[in-house]
Amino acid sequence: MLAAQPGGDGQLLGGVVVAERVEEGAALGGEEGGEVFGGHGSIVGDGPAPAGVGQSKEGGTAFAVSSGESVCRVPGCAAMQLVRQKGNKSQQGHRYAAGPRGRFGVAVAALLVAALGTACGSGDAGPDKAAKEKAAKAAGAAGALGAAEKAKAAQQARVVAAKKWGLRKTPLAAPPAPKEKPHITTRDGFEVEDQEEYPNVFTTIPTEDKVVFLTIDDGSEKDPEFLKMMQELKIPYTAFLSDYVVRDNYPYFKQMQAAGVTLNNHTLNHRYMPGLSYEQQREEICGQQDTIQKQFGKRPTLFRPPYGNYNQDTLRAAKSCGIKAVPLWNAEAFTNRMDYREWDRDLHPGDIILTHFRGKEDWKGTMPDMIRHVMKTVTDKGYAVARLEDYL
Ligand SMILES: [Zn+2]
Repeated sequence: MLAAQPGGDGQLLGGVVVAERVEEGAALGGEEGGEVFGGHGSIVGDGPAPAGVGQSKEGGTAFAVSSGESVCRVPGCAAMQLVRQKGNKSQQGHRYAAGPRGRFGVAVAALLVAALGTACGSGDAGPDKAAKEKAAKAAGAAGALGAAEKAKAAQQARVVAAKKWGLRKTPLAAPPAPKEKPHITTRDGFEVEDQEEYPNVFTTIPTEDKVVFLTIDDGSEKDPEFLKMMQELKIPYTAFLSDYVVRDNYPYFKQMQAAGVTLNNHTLNHRYMPGLSYEQQREEICGQQDTIQKQFGKRPTLFRPPYGNYNQDTLRAAKSCGIKAVPLWNAEAFTNRMDYREWDRDLHPGDIILTHFRGKEDWKGTMPDMIRHVMKTVTDKGYAVARLEDYL
């Protein structure tokens, strides 16, 4: 017999107390492409598809399933789920306003699942002083125009790159990095107990800029074409690496880092965090911090738990390893579709997009195919991809 679970109104399912159902459930691919993980059955919501989200008193949680098309590479897959945040009548502006703590003070790991303008003047060839002064003046004027011209040249280069890489439209240029960083708080319903002591967990950056952020997880696929494409298109992204799929080719990620990409923590072995003890979670997270520091010379400040699942121990461990923030995601990109977390199935300013380092054996296409697809969606909707680190 199963022991009674704390919480009263939860359903017991595979050892997870389900405190409430997600409204408007629908099948979505998951962080790992949509398989049931951990042997749990699915929680069937009111929606048309077999997906659901769990919520436990312990803050562990959440999983879902879908009929996603891609294959899971690791044991245990979760899926992202459409969610309608309580009290979130407006999609804009106040989703991050500090609200009362979740009814149970619990985490819902909701998831489910160069234009280099080198002004080259040779200084020693001037025939006389006047000519030199004239040249200097002209250079000054050019400097004043420099920023606008550089931007123009950069966009021009992008047009060429977009054609070369088969993008239907040229990606929009992101606005300059905000001078003042947005005030980020943990998303309502995603808190663990005493959340204020731990790194914030969020899926969107509060901003009015028409930007989204691209984040890429795991690391199994190491496609040189992808690196080239992103560099030429100048599309920023942030990587969350799991060492077990990265360690066979650190140089690939060194190249990525050299191109300006920040390498962050996605644990050593991609385990389901809430199923581990505090000490085990600490080994997974701190171990990956140490590995990235050793291999790439920089200790990450961002951590993303595998499948987006976490509990209080996860955040406590992450903090003790030097993690400052825990960005999850609000949309997921595949080679042929986008999945959204919000009920409106759309992008919003500041949304974080998740995708994966995957190749043809995992999904129907290559990394460049995925980028072509996600950039079509993003650009059609009028968004630019900005650098996540500029907003943190
Ligand atoms: Zn992952």
